[in-house]
Amino acid sequence: MSYEGVLNQIENNKNKVKRFKKNNKPKDRDFGKSKRKCRRCGRRGRGIIRKYDLYYCRQCFREIADKLGFKKLS
Ligand SMILES: [Zn+2]
Repeated sequence: MSYEGVLNQIENNKNKVKRFKKNNKPKDRDFGKSKRKCRRCGRRGRGIIRKYDLYYCRQCFREIADKLGFKKLS
């Protein structure tokens, strides 16, 4: 589960949120995987497609590739 997903789940417990943020916040990086985010679902990490400036994760890309004009060749 992603950082944002966990935050959503525990948002009504203030102390939990505080502790979670202190210990599990993604590092602020100048580059690297936590800097890149899927612009559809916000997923971080590996599997983000940057080619052609897409910035979709592989899961979202699979769902919307048709609309973007990609053709499946095999
Ligand atoms: Zn996505």
